[in-house]
Parts: sequence; structure tokens; C-alpha cells
Amino acid sequence: MIAKVIVDISNSEVDKIFDYIIPSDFELEVGTRVLVPFGNRSIEGFCIKITDSPEGDYKLKEIIKKMDAKPLIKAEMLELARFMREKFYLRYVDVLRLFIPSKLRGNKVKVLEREYCVLASEDIQTLKSRISPRAKSQLAIIDRLASSGEYLTVLNTEFSPSAINSLVEKGLVIKSKQEVLRKPISDSDINQNKVVLTDTQEKALNEIKSSKQSIVLLHGVTGSGKTEVYMSLIESALKQGKTAIALVPEISLTPQILRVFRARFGDDIAMLHSGLSDGERYDEWRRIYDGDAKIVVGARSAIFAPTENLGVIIIDEEHDSSYISESNPRFRTLDVAEFRANYNNCKVVLGSATPSVESYNNARANKFALVEMNKRISKNGMPNIQIVDMAQELRVGNFSVFSNELKSKLQEVISNGNQAMVFINRRGYASYMQCKSCGYIAKCTDCDIALTYHKEDNLLKCHYCGKKFKPLDICPNCHSESIKQGKIGTEKVVRELQEFLGDSVRILRMDNDTTTTKTAYLDILGAFRRGEAQVLVGTQMIVKGHDFPNVTLVGVLDADMSLYFSDYRSCERTYQLITQVAGRAGRKDKLGEVIIQTYSPKHYLFNFVKNYDYKGFFDKELNTRGVTNFPPYTTIVRVLVTNEQDEKSLNCTKKIYDLLKLLRAENEKEFVYMQAMKSPINKIQNKYRYQIVLRIKRNLEDRIIGKIYNIVDENKQGNSVFVEINPQNMS
Ligand code: ADP
Ligand code: ZN
Ligand code: ZN
Repeated sequence: MIAKVIVDISNSEVDKIFDYIIPSDFELEVGTRVLVPFGNRSIEGFCIKITDSPEGDYKLKEIIKKMDAKPLIKAEMLELARFMREKFYLRYVDVLRLFIPSKLRGNKVKVLEREYCVLASEDIQTLKSRISPRAKSQLAIIDRLASSGEYLTVLNTEFSPSAINSLVEKGLVIKSKQEVLRKPISDSDINQNKVVLTDTQEKALNEIKSSKQSIVLLHGVTGSGKTEVYMSLIESALKQGKTAIALVPEISLTPQILRVFRARFGDDIAMLHSGLSDGERYDEWRRIYDGDAKIVVGARSAIFAPTENLGVIIIDEEHDSSYISESNPRFRTLDVAEFRANYNNCKVVLGSATPSVESYNNARANKFALVEMNKRISKNGMPNIQIVDMAQELRVGNFSVFSNELKSKLQEVISNGNQAMVFINRRGYASYMQCKSCGYIAKCTDCDIALTYHKEDNLLKCHYCGKKFKPLDICPNCHSESIKQGKIGTEKVVRELQEFLGDSVRILRMDNDTTTTKTAYLDILGAFRRGEAQVLVGTQMIVKGHDFPNVTLVGVLDADMSLYFSDYRSCERTYQLITQVAGRAGRKDKLGEVIIQTYSPKHYLFNFVKNYDYKGFFDKELNTRGVTNFPPYTTIVRVLVTNEQDEKSLNCTKKIYDLLKLLRAENEKEFVYMQAMKSPINKIQNKYRYQIVLRIKRNLEDRIIGKIYNIVDENKQGNSVFVEINPQNMS
């Protein structure tokens, strides 16, 4: 018998399947890892097919050995690999690598051992007396472990490892390698957490279950209780002996969803996301593979979990761009989910308060089922949204970054003991430094981009490559000392807020700069949840999904900043961003309020936002896209060419452009646009960037995109060339 094997060579351009003889003394199943002779060495590979006879008539070698007793890649995943290879023009080996934890490659894994934590004593008070009252997370860990122990991997997602470690060092918590069976969660525990579904939730649930389509879009306003609907769907799946995958867009949201899920489902949950160490990821993967964990929670890569017999796939905040992988291996999570749902005959549920135009359009066209939840669970309903004209503030002499309205509301919220969130989509202190006399702007030496001023480190930083520079004191061009600063970022917002609210108010900041360590976001969100701070200032990171019951005020600064980007999605993005951040206010028992500051209060978008009129927004947006020939009416393809040598990059772009012109000539009707140009940011990390952007009519694109890939593959000439479909970022 012959095994068809994909060899696991890194950095290879080959996507070839090799034939090997299966030695007569062993049985081999498809999907098993094998060791094979390759050239003069032996390497790992995956057996993806078994046949009777070889294709060529050259001399074949024998497989050396099997790497695992059972196939690592189960039948469904093998089919998925085939699908992804064709759909996304990927190499087999790159796809297969998505499916198994890196620890399994190169046979690095030792025996499965999971660390388990328990309290050193049942006397909680005594344990607590040995902890400083200020060590809030340590105290919280003691409470968490009071009723039962917990796996270290799980604790690590909820608390900072440093807090756990100090408890272990003090001997208050005991870490053991051996698996200890946990006390099963008693019925009363579960009931405590189980809520009765509202009529709206019940109705939504039934509509989802009875829908004809395999993909269901659950359009539910923020705070409408989508999570409970997800959990009911998962529960039904489990009752039928099936499994479930629930995806969230960011790691920072996994602890929250995990907390609610665990209260409901106990230990049945595994999670997969990029924040795990290799060992942790392997542990979790293994629990899923072995069938011990029936529910998988995680970011997009969790869609590749080796679950069998899937009963439902949930994609929460489906509009989020993180569900699309644009770098190799590129894929769309929804396409993968759809494949798996069809294979398992189950549903994909897309949840969002602000669906992507693409998804909502599919729902309108009946490709997806549409299920709606228009009301919040809280009787207070949606928070009131007020749009504040910042130009008017200037006219009345308010030069601060905060409107008078926002200032007084902030003070009110804090004196009432509630919490506020302030959103600004820019990190750092000031967006640039510029000479007032001659207009010189400090730019990165490696990238064609203005540097952002960070006051905490007193440095200028490049947000594209991370390079740091001294701040501008004297203009290198005209030697003037009068330097001005660009638009404010999170750092400056915190500083100004602190000044205005006084030192007794504690303000937390969450952005890329404050979350560089693995657990920083847990610490920040945890502290805010525990009420240790009154205000949370942040970028996009604070926008999604978070459910903080005491937040009654949300302020949005510079709401129009993303509105005028030269990206066809800028309106959609701005609508989503503002609606989502507004949705963090007044989620539980307290009434919420939202203040949006802008210099263009008359922009139509704000009316839709204010009235929670998603449909109005969608109709207007779809109309614009139709008139201007943008997705979903067309597909945008960007061919991006980069090289350290400007000329090489330019020449390669020209070459590809000429070939694409021929392709266009053959398919005149299908091309609605094609242009070659410098990329908006012409240089990033010393690589010069050129691009060809084209738009192809929808439904005809698959055939043409295949040809574009072929042209690109044959004409790279040593450049890095990327083909991007409807790219999220055109810079
Ligand atoms: P969404 O994901 O739609 O924004 P959540 O699922 O976070 O909303 O729910 C909002 C809040 O309402 C949460 O605090 C949740 O615990 C609560 N909630 C949801 N469903 C119910 C219910 N049936 N009864 C009581 N509270 C509920
Ligand atoms: Zn100057
Ligand atoms: Zn740079």
C-alpha cells in the first residue's frame, strides 16, 4: 500500500504530495503523523491518503515509523484542509499546521501532566489573614478556590500568574502535578447561575433552531442577552451528545465568557487562543482531542479545534476584523465555520449588535437566517446618546479635550459611586510633533509615517515598527524652538482627567502600551471590575463585549477620527465602534448615558447611532456601496509588493500590472477598476511598498482570483508579494 504524505518542511515553497510505501508490518490510518526519509535526512509528515498503487514509476522509499498511535488529524479536518487549500490558495502543510499545537511538531511533547491548584487549608479566614489587604487579586484567588480546586491553566486566564505564584510561595495555595479529581459542581451551584430566558430570548432561540439556513445572524442590541442564547444552544448540543465551539474576537474577552460559561457548564470547557503558552495550548488541545472537553472557547484559531460531532458554532461579535487572517496562512473564519457546520450538519450562529454590512446583506438576501433581539434585558433600556459639537465648545471658550457636558457628567457619576469609560482611538500622548515655523514633522527613519509622542517615556515612537526617537526640542530643519503637538491620545486624556477630577479618583488606562505583558489586560479589567478604579480610559480594546454592571457613563472623544479614512469601510467601522462602546453603559440595573464628542455633529452617521437605527445605517451604506461599486457588490483585490530596494519593488509591480492588464482585457466586463500606485504608506520597516488595487464584480471573482494568484506566484522576482482579498487595512 502507498501512503500520500505531506512533508513538514518549514519555509518551503513546495506544496507537493509524496508517495511512500507502507511497510507490511504495520497498519496506517489516514491523518497519522509519520517519519519518512527525505533526501538524506528523515522528517515528519502527515499521511493524507492511502492508495493501492503509486502515481509515478520512480523508486519509492518506505515510511520509517508512525509518530502517534492514533491519527492526529481526523477525517473532518483532512477534508477541511483540502477545502482551505483550494479556497484560500494555501499550501497543505500551512493548513495542517493550523490544526495541531506546535508542541506536537518535532515530537517535543512529554507525558501529559496538568498542574492543579488547591487551598492549603479549608480555613479561609486564616489564609486571608496572611495576605495583605491590598493584594486584591490574591484575596480573590482564595475566594475562587474556596469551594473547589482549579487547573493552573484556567486560573492563569482569570488572575495574574504572579499573584498565583506568590500564594504558592507563601504556602497558601498548593500546586500539584497530579491530576486531582475536582468536586463536581453541585446542582445548586448551577441553578444559582442559571437565569430564566426572557420571551425575546426564548423566541430568538426557537427561531435559530428552526431556521432553514445553516448560518444564522443573531442581530441583538448591546445588552440584549445574547450570551444566554448562546449558552442555551450549547446546552442543547451537549444534551444530544454533541460538542460546541464559541469564538470571541479577542483574548481579553475570553476570561469574561469563560466565567459565565464555567458557572453554567463546569469543567467541560477548553480554551484556545494566542495568549496560551505552548504547553497550555497542548493541554487544552489534548482535552478536546480526547473528547474530555466538549465546549471550546477561544479566538479565531479555536475554529480548528479537533472536536468531533459538532452541534453548534458560535461567532460572537461577528463583525470584528480579527476573524479574518490576512497574513499567511490567510483565511476567513466564517468560511471555515461554514464548512465544519455543513460537515457536521449543525448551525453557525453569528452574533452582533452591529453586524458587518457583508453579513447583514447576506441575511437580507436570505443566505443567512436573520434573528433579532431589539431590547435590552435591563428595564432601563438603551442608554441615551448625546452628540456634543466640539466646535461649539471652542466658541464658548472651552479649549479642554472634554466638553462641559462630559465634565459635569463625569463628576456626577463619580460622586454617585458609579464608574465611567472614556474611549479614544489613539494611544500615546500626541499624534505627532511638528515645527511651527517651517512645518517639519518628525518621521520614522524606517517608515514613511509621523512619530507619536509618548510622554511617560519622553520618546517619539513609530507605531508601525516600534522604533524610538528623542522628542523634538529644536527643529532640525530651521532650528526653531517652537514645536507643536498633534492630536491627543490616551496618555494625555488620563493626565487631563486626573488633573480635573483630582488625585482621589483612580483612573486606569488600557491600550497597547499598558498591555505589553501577558496578563496586564487581566489585571486592568479585574481591577476595574472590582471597583478599584472609577474611570477606564482606553482604545478599541475597551470597546467590545465587556459587561461591567456599574458603568453608567461612556464618553467618546474624537468620534469622527476614523470617519474620513480613505477606506470604503470607514463609515461602517465608525458606526460599529461608537455603537459598541456606547453599549457598555447602563447594562444592569442602572441607567446609562453616552456622550459623543465630535467636530462633525451633522454627519448622518451620528443620527443613526443616536437612534440605534442599524437598519437605517445599513440601507444608506449599502446604497453608497452600490453607487460607488464597492463590496458587497464587488470584491477588492490588492496585490502588495514590498522590497528593501525601491526600484525592485517598483519593477515587479509594473511587471505584474502589465500581466493583470492582459487578464483584464480577457475579462473586460468583470473588472470595474484597476490601478497601480505607491501604497499610502510608501515605506514600512525600510521596505518600499507598491500596490495594484482592483475591483471585480461579485460572484465572478473566484475564477479570476485564481488567475491573479498564478500570475503573482510566477512573477515575484525575489520580492514579497501579497494578494489580499477585501483587505482590512489598505495602508
Ligand atoms: P449582549 O451580549 O447581548 O450584549 P449579555 O449577554 O452580556 O448581552 O447580557 C447583558 C446582561 O443581561 C448580562 O449582565 C446578563 O447577565 C444579563 N441577562 C441576560 N439574560 C438574562 C435573563 N434572561 N435574565 C436576567 N438577566 C439576564
Ligand atoms: Zn522648522
Ligand atoms: Zn517605523
